[in-house]
Amino acid sequence: MAPQTQHRTQETLELDLLVIGFGKAGKTIAMKRAKAGDRVAIVEKLPSMYGGTCINIACVPTKRLLESAAAGLEYLEAKEDRNGFIAKLNAANKAMAEGAGALVIDGHARFVGPHTVQVTGEGELLEITAQTVVINTGAASSVEVDERLHDSTSIQQLAAKPASLGIVGAGPIGIEFATMFNEFGVPVTLYNGSKEFLGFLDPEIAQAVREHLESQGITIKDEKVADPKALPEEKVLMAVGRKPVVEDLGLDAAGVRYSADGIEVDERCRTSVDGVYAVGDVTGAPQFTYLSYDDHRVVMADRWGSGSEPRTRAGRIYPRTTFSNPPLSTIGLSEREAREQGFEVEVRQAKVADLAIVPRPKILKQPEGVVQFVLDAGTNQILGAVLFCVDSQELINTVAVAMRAGITASELGDGIFTHPSTSEIFNALLA
Ligand SMILES: Cc1cc2nc3c(=O)[nH]c(=O)nc-3n(C[C@H](O)[C@H](O)[C@H](O)COP(=O)(O)OP(=O)(O)OC[C@H]3O[C@@H](n4cnc5c(N)ncnc54)[C@H](O)[C@@H]3O)c2cc1C
Repeated sequence: MAPQTQHRTQETLELDLLVIGFGKAGKTIAMKRAKAGDRVAIVEKLPSMYGGTCINIACVPTKRLLESAAAGLEYLEAKEDRNGFIAKLNAANKAMAEGAGALVIDGHARFVGPHTVQVTGEGELLEITAQTVVINTGAASSVEVDERLHDSTSIQQLAAKPASLGIVGAGPIGIEFATMFNEFGVPVTLYNGSKEFLGFLDPEIAQAVREHLESQGITIKDEKVADPKALPEEKVLMAVGRKPVVEDLGLDAAGVRYSADGIEVDERCRTSVDGVYAVGDVTGAPQFTYLSYDDHRVVMADRWGSGSEPRTRAGRIYPRTTFSNPPLSTIGLSEREAREQGFEVEVRQAKVADLAIVPRPKILKQPEGVVQFVLDAGTNQILGAVLFCVDSQELINTVAVAMRAGITASELGDGIFTHPSTSEIFNALLA
């Protein structure tokens, strides 16, 4: 099929594959199947979201802003740079999908039957029937944004640098924006409403991260905020999580089972309707772009038999990074969790500055941080790791590969790594 857009003149469309929402998994499946010769369309309700959340309002623009803040750009200069960069990526995503042969249709999709969807936009109506439907509608904030109260999207578009910022929620997004605005020179207060600050970490490591953030100038208050409007800061960011987008999708008309926690899927991303899949954040899965990307492999394997063996979501070993400065990356079990699960645990832990054979952090003038590996004392397998250090967003992927492949701690520690590199942490702690 020749690449085209906006089939508003047609009232009905018969397709092989319909993707609802321009998310990571959906767009990847759409492009692969279009290249394979299928008739494919992606329906996206907002042109500003071509390419999905990650590209337009989440992972990519926030990292660009973080880089600009660290490089000393003024807030407004950084915002302009962010917007120019993202506009290019947005256009490139649309062009890539169309170049692969998929239709990109603007409009809001709602099921009217198990395999039939109505698309509305600007008063026009299109009905699409497809053998395979992939629901990739993501997650969204429920914060009612106004001049003062913001969500993670609107906070990226302030008209001026705020005099002060209160952030409600000390999870990954809260910490990321706290780091960013602090580096833009804005006084930031981070309100932690959880019982423990970074409760998924062992207390000693959580404390080290906390002290580091505080040493950077971020104020952290252990306070459950009942009324964000009453906070004293000029602007307030609500970093309190995003919920799967299951509303206004006509899921009942399709017979797709769901709840407020997301669309129900099995480990192959199959919904309760044959031939209808759901992928990414809308399924209530942990909200990461790379898990949505992995869902595309799962669906490709299940529906079209691609890949060498059946792939499922079960037992995925995946790392996470919070983009503080330095980044905080984790994988697997904490020491506490490992002990609770009955492992005989060996912990290898050090301050990055104390690792004499790892000069790169000092060369970069970022020697701060702490690293911890949790090992099974009996088998020497890596059960988990916390890397709070420069480059950790890269290093943690090496740990993930070792864990997936069953490479022992000593084998990783005996690896030959370039010098000077942060990978030498493995030599220093695991040999
Ligand atoms: C501030 C922030 C920073 C983040 N940083 C990271 C990070 O660094 N790394 C990481 O891995 N993850 C990060 N995430 C999470 C990541 O962005 C998401 O997990 C990821 O984008 C998942 O996307 P998805 O595939 O589920 O769908 P999305 O990319 O969310 O796509 C859903 C699309 O569906 C469209 N849509 C919804 N309903 C309809 C409808 N009825 N009809 C048509 N279209 C519809 C939406 O407009 C949207 O474009 C971050 C999130 C936020 C908020």
